[in-house]
Amino acid sequence: MVLKGLRLRIYPNDYQKELIDFNFGANRFVWNNMLDMMIKRHENNPDLKALKAFDLNYILTVFKREHIWLKKAESTSLQVTNKDLFEAYGGFFSKKRKFPRFKSKKFPKQSYQSKFVNNNVEIIDNSYIKLPKLGVMKYKNKKSIPSIIKYVTIRKSSTSKYYAVLTVDEEPEQLPKTNKSIGIDMGVSDLVICSNGRKYKTIRFDKKLAKKKHHWEKRLARRRTQALRDIQYKKKFGLSDPKTLEQYSNYIKAKLMVAKYSEKIANQRKDYLHKITRELVENDDMIVIEDLKTKNLLKNHKLSRVIANQSWRELRLMLEYKCEWYGKKLLIVNPFKTSQICSNCGYDDGKHGLDIREWDCPNCSIHHDRDINASKNILNIGLEQALVK
Ligand SMILES: [Zn+2]
Repeated sequence: MVLKGLRLRIYPNDYQKELIDFNFGANRFVWNNMLDMMIKRHENNPDLKALKAFDLNYILTVFKREHIWLKKAESTSLQVTNKDLFEAYGGFFSKKRKFPRFKSKKFPKQSYQSKFVNNNVEIIDNSYIKLPKLGVMKYKNKKSIPSIIKYVTIRKSSTSKYYAVLTVDEEPEQLPKTNKSIGIDMGVSDLVICSNGRKYKTIRFDKKLAKKKHHWEKRLARRRTQALRDIQYKKKFGLSDPKTLEQYSNYIKAKLMVAKYSEKIANQRKDYLHKITRELVENDDMIVIEDLKTKNLLKNHKLSRVIANQSWRELRLMLEYKCEWYGKKLLIVNPFKTSQICSNCGYDDGKHGLDIREWDCPNCSIHHDRDINASKNILNIGLEQALVK
């Protein structure tokens, strides 16, 4: 059984939206107060053992008596928040994470997670969903929903769309075995280069929408300056009660439009990466990729490089969990000399500058496309490793 996240777009009515906002607030309140308490506790006595999620839940019951309004919040979500906080706090002390931050109402994306208990989540007629403390609302999703639900995360995007992300336990779908293996090189102009010669181009989704996004970015900057000047002016001369920045509707509109385009770009990129990884796990039983840590050493602050880096990381993550789901194998190898060794005869031709896209092996005289040769080498390393294990 594997855990899988299934995202549904949900359509709460105004009252339900209010309830969702209320729950965001309650979870934020619990997180911030518990964090504050843990920090002070540590300052007062650094030798005390850190509190466990269990301790935090006990404190929560006392806390609820003090802040009666919290009783209206979805109660399992507050426990999940405690657990998240415990993990974030512990993660910092074991040096795996940054110190947990206080949460702000102004953060454009908000979420909380509820546990599945006593059928508090239910799918009705494939078009309605019952959610804890929120009641029934319409949803949209093409896929069928498995019956075992573990958690549900209610999320509001920066463009005020609402989602329910179901964490479901699912029997993995087994893809038919193909008895094929593939090596993959990741590049900048071609995102993915396969040892069988297939290439997936890098698509700059950000460029396609750049004009529209930039148009709104300029407006956003201008409207922000105008609003701030207006506020300053009113304060200086004691004119009517000055508004906050968030009350300037044209500023808010521009902010929303910028967020909308960023979201669109991110979604298009994700869809493309899903398509590539889906094809790879369908066609091959073993996928060999290079360890990106070594590749990242090529520090370059060019935007295309930054985007490539991010896409590679996401690709690897998708391959990791998709191979797990579909019963395929992912091998990660050290890309040592993969761009200079001939994949046909093993001859080491020495370093090839980045501008050399094709070369001939002086030993066996085979003609190489640089990237395809590299991906063949990656596959060879993977096949050797698989034999040793
Ligand atoms: Zn050769």
